[in-house]
Amino acid sequence: MASPLDIEQLLSDRVKDIETSGIRRAWALAQACEDPVNLSIGQPDFLVPDAIKQAAIDAILADNNGYTQTAGDAGLLKSIYGRLNSQFDWEFSDTSHHAAMVTTGTAGALTLAFLTVLGPGDEVIIPDPYFVIYPTLARIADAKAVLCDTYPDFRMTADRIAACITDKTKAVLLNSPANPTGVVLTETEVNDIASLCKDRGILLITDEIYDEFVFPPTKHASPASTNEDVLVIRGYGKTYGCTGWRMGYAAGPKPLIDAMLKLKQQTFVCAPSVFQHALVGAYDIDLSPLIDRFSKRRDMVVELLGDVTELVVPNGAFYAFPKIPVAHGLTGMEFILKAIEQDVLVIQGDVFSSHDTHFRISFAVSEEKLEQGLTILRKLLQ
Ligand code: PMP
Repeated sequence: MASPLDIEQLLSDRVKDIETSGIRRAWALAQACEDPVNLSIGQPDFLVPDAIKQAAIDAILADNNGYTQTAGDAGLLKSIYGRLNSQFDWEFSDTSHHAAMVTTGTAGALTLAFLTVLGPGDEVIIPDPYFVIYPTLARIADAKAVLCDTYPDFRMTADRIAACITDKTKAVLLNSPANPTGVVLTETEVNDIASLCKDRGILLITDEIYDEFVFPPTKHASPASTNEDVLVIRGYGKTYGCTGWRMGYAAGPKPLIDAMLKLKQQTFVCAPSVFQHALVGAYDIDLSPLIDRFSKRRDMVVELLGDVTELVVPNGAFYAFPKIPVAHGLTGMEFILKAIEQDVLVIQGDVFSSHDTHFRISFAVSEEKLEQGLTILRKLLQ
């Protein structure tokens, strides 16, 4: 019999370099919890609106099950064009500056963007803390993710970005509202970043997956309002409770979208056809009751943890990133182990950062569970 294949030895460095051990260890430990209060999940707890579910069913029954155009279904693209036109005055025609494409999740758009722009020796500036896949995507592209340290207020400002720029910088990645901090940048901050990138000839990629999750009176500001060469990346999963449908979009300068389309044609091919049809009417749905509810949950986090830890108040998304009081002398992992002992799941900060001083709470859970979890965390932090 032939000797078994040594798969480990066959794996590429790019895969070996992906760090998942921190999350895996936490999840493995959490298996022991019977009925945990799970504040670790980055997905909404509400259901897909009925109208959208029905549209998905209708799309299947109407036999919209084949490939779509690589850029996306015409109906969905039209709704995206309308959205971006009303927000940024961007035009979409064969001769216009801009183009858009539907993608396989927001992650699909980010993957295409990184692989399209970055190569060996190139640098992309990302925030620290960051959404976990940013450094991995840079690694996959054989490029370097340069961490822009935003502690302690988590604001990725133009000054902080400028200090990270080198002659190898090709792109800056902005994420407001941010995962894992919930921080929303102001219009002035965003505009300063937009002009910095314009002046320095750097592509600004803006991951706006949480654009709808902004708590009044805070407003979402996009750098696309003042810089026509920004690559805007957005998703449907978080907004409409359909993360598993893997739907997102990218819009920006046409030559960039065209290059991303070349890559998409030979990788993802198209985004899921049924769900493209299902989401055509998504923008007709009034999200304000939902945002109101998330805003109240945010208030609960501030009320229960604000006086026992250093907490930057989240004005968007559904995360908070409190600091573990130094007096406790605990690393993030040590703290989350204490939380797990009390059946509460949160994620240690070093999963999202080069620092291990904070932890992430997701408040996309019922008010009852949230209160239960926060009360336990409060005691642990006191
Ligand atoms: N960007 C950010 C900031 C995120 O938090 C996430 C999901 N957690 C994504 C992108 C990926 O989203 P999707 O599921 O649409 O690929």
